[in-house]
Amino acid sequence: MQKYALAVGASVVIFVLVLVFGPFALSRLIFNEHIEHKNFSVHSDEPISPAIIGILDSVDANLRRSEFYFNRRKHFIYISSNYFNYSIFSPASHSAFAHTNPFRTFVSKTSIDSNTVTRRGAENNKRSLIGVLSHELTHCLIWYKSGFFHSRILPKWKVEGYCDYIAKESSFDFTEGMRLVFAKEQDASASFFYFTAHLCIKYLIEERGMLYSEILSERVKQDDVLSEIVANRYYPDWY
Ligand SMILES: [Zn+2]
Repeated sequence: MQKYALAVGASVVIFVLVLVFGPFALSRLIFNEHIEHKNFSVHSDEPISPAIIGILDSVDANLRRSEFYFNRRKHFIYISSNYFNYSIFSPASHSAFAHTNPFRTFVSKTSIDSNTVTRRGAENNKRSLIGVLSHELTHCLIWYKSGFFHSRILPKWKVEGYCDYIAKESSFDFTEGMRLVFAKEQDASASFFYFTAHLCIKYLIEERGMLYSEILSERVKQDDVLSEIVANRYYPDWY
């Protein structure tokens, strides 16, 4: 009986170890090309183009725009050359541009030389690698500042809008987005939700002079901000 209990215990320990360390080992196996630059550790499933250095410098410059910026922590980035390798580690976000957890960022199908990420999807499916990394790592800055679990209950528009604001990019067409906003029409895509969230954060920071920490702590409703944007005929310079 004692031997049986020991065997069960050993099996449970091995199962937990595989569960915890298996994905790390597998990712190192698949993403076996690697470079370090500043506080970025980049892993890829194909040789890494030297163009990555300029891209990481631009990401760093974007992140420094954030009042939450700090560089004391290393960012671990896993870049895929195809959808399959990305989906293995991001099954719940397989059609997204990227997926970030507190430890690592996985990026969908990427061309470093053309600074492009293509997500699995028919429309609004291209963004720059600079934009995608800036967006994802801004999530990390918010987590470090606000705490991971608290960040999960923040209004989505405040978080995603700020990540795109720091990335200086949107996957939705700007002219069409502004037309819809002023016509008070909707587009059902997630891309349009990100666009309006970004627009509202840009308005609050650049027109109303609010800090992001104030936007997070104060009761600001996205519908009210959009109404104000329409009333003031706010039409920003885009990027
Ligand atoms: Zn995001």
